[in-house]
Amino acid sequence: MRDSPSTLWLLGILTGLLVLSGLRFGVLSGRSAAATAGQERIETLSPAEPVLTVVPVVQREVVAGTGAVTVPRLPPLLTLTDTIGPDDSIYLSLKGLGVSDAQILALGEALKPVFDAERAARPGDTYSLQLTDDGRVARFEYTPIAEPERLVIVFRDGDQLLARETFLPLEYRQLALEVTIEDNLSNALGVADDGEVLTDLLADGIFRSAIDFHKDPRTGDRLGVVCQALYMNGAFLRYDRILLARYSGQVVSGLAIHYETPGASAGYFDERGVSLERMFLLNPLAFRRISSNFSRRRFHPILKRNVPHLGTDYAANRGTEVWATARGRVSAAGRNGGYGKMVEIEHANGYSTRYAHLSRISVRTGQRIEKKHVIGRVGSTGRATGPHLHYELLKNGRHINPASANRGSQGRSLKKPHLRDFARKRDELRSILDSAGRRGSMVAVGDPPAR
Ligand SMILES: [Zn+2]
Repeated sequence: MRDSPSTLWLLGILTGLLVLSGLRFGVLSGRSAAATAGQERIETLSPAEPVLTVVPVVQREVVAGTGAVTVPRLPPLLTLTDTIGPDDSIYLSLKGLGVSDAQILALGEALKPVFDAERAARPGDTYSLQLTDDGRVARFEYTPIAEPERLVIVFRDGDQLLARETFLPLEYRQLALEVTIEDNLSNALGVADDGEVLTDLLADGIFRSAIDFHKDPRTGDRLGVVCQALYMNGAFLRYDRILLARYSGQVVSGLAIHYETPGASAGYFDERGVSLERMFLLNPLAFRRISSNFSRRRFHPILKRNVPHLGTDYAANRGTEVWATARGRVSAAGRNGGYGKMVEIEHANGYSTRYAHLSRISVRTGQRIEKKHVIGRVGSTGRATGPHLHYELLKNGRHINPASANRGSQGRSLKKPHLRDFARKRDELRSILDSAGRRGSMVAVGDPPAR
């Protein structure tokens, strides 16, 4: 795969140099000149100068019909590599390596059709750049950290730089794992590749409306997973999809099976084919801990008497996103006394929710929003001693305990025609987990069907 482009750029450089012998150079302002023409600019460098000397940006003009053509020796190449840092950009990185503005612009132009260098570049992305000894880009290979299989290559074709995307072959593997909880889910999943990602997929994704992983797990609980993961060159790349997740606990248990019905969206279903999606998210944010639970009679440490706390307080960093816990319509968004900056949302069936002490509100009254829409940020406005979210749930105007919101509520059930197929898949996945999962580490259980 790497041979053909390198042959191409070699040919390209040869062609370029042949053309070069008939050129004369004149200095122009780099940016504007480069912006007007779609073509790459080159720079002059005397052969004795080091490759990365920064030189004035120049424009060349082709003068027809001059002089003899000599076949030059192929120039040596300098290879530079770098990783995009935080607050970095491809431009800054290249600039830091001493690449000229003209070459960076040319590279940017070439990249445009396949890769938006300004928007798509992320910290951790890597690249390698080959420069000819006159400082021109010969080849550029960019690897996005989020999608390392999607390699962006820029190569020289004569005077032009051309870009293309190459997708490296990936391998899907089906994996199984069963672990015992010692203290928390995240530590238990530490034995897996990207255990943190797997934790998020399970806790914030699949079981988000069913299991509260901050409160419910107990030592000795068991968690089993069957999933698909992507591998590149034999190395783990990322999780693709969790097919089955099973939590067997002392406080809660749950089974989640991924299932897709023809013509409907895919989702997770319990043992009987009932959707795990519930009306409310268990928690309206990613938080550190619950600093105060719902209580109709909470003993107040200063007042020395029982004062109700009709909500849940979540300790979280200022600026943490706050999500609507269910779809609905914003009925209030603004300052409200001791609540500080507060959002109130009306939901179906007489429910409403309140989110208080926000530092910022990102919705307006009357707006319709979906579940998990970001409505604002954690703050400490109103009567709050530090940044936290005070969250209330009301049914027909009466406060209820948010922790009980999803109890007893049911998701939608799969339709009859799909239930038999669902049951077959469920049993197949369960037997995969039972036969392969109990080794305490991820094991391959075969390749999923190609797609
Ligand atoms: Zn509170």
